[in-house]
Formats: sequence, C-alpha cells, structure tokens
Amino acid sequence: MIVILKPHPDKERVQRLIQRIENMGLSINYSEGSSTTILGLMGDTSAIDVTDLEVFDIVERVQRITEPFKAVNRKMHPQDTIVEVAGRKIGAGYFNVFAGPCSVENEEQILMVAESVRKAGASFLRGGAFKPRTSPYSFQGLEAEGLKLLLSAKRQTGMPIVTEIMSEKHLDLFADVDIIQLGARNMQNFMLLKELGRSNKPILLKRGLSATIEEFLMAAEYIFAGGNTNVMFCERGIRTFETIIRNNLDISAVPLLKTLSHLPVIIDPSHAAGRRDMVAPLSRSAIAAGADGLMIEVHNDPKRALCDGAQSLNLPQFDEVMADVTRRALFEGRTLQS
Ligand code: PEP
Ligand code: MN
Repeated sequence: MIVILKPHPDKERVQRLIQRIENMGLSINYSEGSSTTILGLMGDTSAIDVTDLEVFDIVERVQRITEPFKAVNRKMHPQDTIVEVAGRKIGAGYFNVFAGPCSVENEEQILMVAESVRKAGASFLRGGAFKPRTSPYSFQGLEAEGLKLLLSAKRQTGMPIVTEIMSEKHLDLFADVDIIQLGARNMQNFMLLKELGRSNKPILLKRGLSATIEEFLMAAEYIFAGGNTNVMFCERGIRTFETIIRNNLDISAVPLLKTLSHLPVIIDPSHAAGRRDMVAPLSRSAIAAGADGLMIEVHNDPKRALCDGAQSLNLPQFDEVMADVTRRALFEGRTLQS
C-alpha cells in the first residue's frame, strides 16, 4: 500500500502520520521526489482501512499495490534507485562495466586481467572464487584462496570487486567484497536470499535460468524484505528451445524491469550467449534498451581458461568492446563510472 502526500507537506504532520502507521506494526519506505512524496507501507496491510489514512489532511490518496512485489515496485519508489558502491553510482543514467574472468585461477591471472580492464575503463573487477558447476568433476573455483587473490587485486589496482556467494555460511569471508553476486542457480535459494537481506552488502541478483520476470522481482523482494535495499538485477539469458547458443538474452527484460521496478538493471552478454563473438552486439543492444551496466567475462588466455573460455574476451578484444561501449553509452546520455 502507498500513501501519496499532497505537495510540500508539513514535516511535523508527516512525522505524525508515520508514527501512526508504525504503531500499526508496519514500516515505512519514504520516497521524496521533486513533485510527490510517497510513503510505502511495508508489512501486512490487509487489515488496514484506507479511510483511516485518508482523513489526514496531508494525504492526497491511498492506493493498494496489487502486484505481489511491493518494495521493489516502481509504484513504491517512482524515481530510479541509485546503488552507491565504493564511490561509484549505479543506475539512473550512471553506467558501469564489471569485467574480469569467470573464475579466479591464480595471482598472476587475476592481476593481469584487473590491470588491463581497469585501464580500458571498467569500474568493477569480477571473478568467481566459489563456482557453481554443472559437473562435480569440473574446476570448482579456488574458494577462500580465490577470494584472497581477488582482495589482493582490489588492493593493488584500487578496483572494487564483485564475486559470487554460494552459501550463507561463507558470508564472513565476503566482508571486504564490494558487491555480492547471487548466481542464476541460486536465485530462488530462499535461505540465502533472506541472509543477504539481513546483510548490508550491495547484491547483484542474476536471473534464474528459467525464471519469469515476476519470480525475478520476488527474489529481489526477499532481499528488500530483510532490510537490504542495495539490489541490482542482472539479466544473463534464459533457457529456450534454442540450442545453437548457450542461453537467449531476454532484452525485453530491461524495459520491463525498469517499468515494474526502480532498481538498476545490468546485462551479462557473456553468459547470455556463451560465445565471445556475441558480446559486442549484445552489449550494444543492452545500452540501447536502457541497461545501467554490463558484466563481461575477460581472460588473459581464454583458450586455457578453467571455466567459460568460449565466451571470454581476451584483453585486446575487451579494449575494443570497451571503447565501443563508451562511445555508445555517452551517445545514449549515460554517465560512465570508472
Ligand atoms: C558467472 O557469473 O560466472 C556465473 C556463474 O553466472 P550465472 O549465475 O549467470 O550462470
Ligand atoms: Mn562464467
């Protein structure tokens, strides 16, 4: 439920109204725009009588949110949310590129890729330490050791890092990670979603392999429900009948998510297709569709990569894509962060 206030409401009266709502056992999501102020009511509002709130003279109108996603709903927060991480802004026209290898393999590799993508203009270093692999016999990531190498690359290059968590038991290890990635395979791991909701870490939430847009929104709602409002969506391709590419990039997810929600939307063109030749065209389509950033896999020697080599760009290829992305993002009026 949202309570839309009349323009320029008296602050004291707003406070009294908030108090009244909180006394009903609800919490408030306060959203002040240039022309409207909205109080989003969080919790079970089914027993509330709308007229009890409409009697307040600062109230313009009261509206129930009928969709199951409430806090992440754009009705709750009409302005784009900007997630701020390590001095970089993400969303509302601020554009970021997260780049790095699928998995951290050794010190030399992660440092070489980090230095190179930083110079090319990426604002975040990505790299998996805990890898969700289809086969138990495939490389599983360097785990805690991989996180150490990533943190060391962060110290040496000054780049903030994003890396995937696979279990809530590992949260302590992620204390110095800037953005925690929740991977596609865990999008509906509800225990993990709840734990991330209780943490104050920015979360990059990847869309499940076969998740609907509503399920994707509801996963973000879980994190919000726990109190963590630093969430970004990442569309990374979904399963379809097509087999010639790894996944199908659902480009319509960008305008859809942006209409339905206020949160930033990132596109991962690497997992979307599973082929490096598709990264540049899909990146272009992401920018045109309104994405707030890209997550791109880059490796110093893709042929020898322990994971996802076929979709990884080498260092010069990333330089080229980054130059193209920069030009196009600026043309589309975005502000590039580095
Ligand atoms: C990854 O980013 O390397 C990854 C495993 O992504 P996804 O969860 O989208 O498959
Ligand atoms: Mn990968």
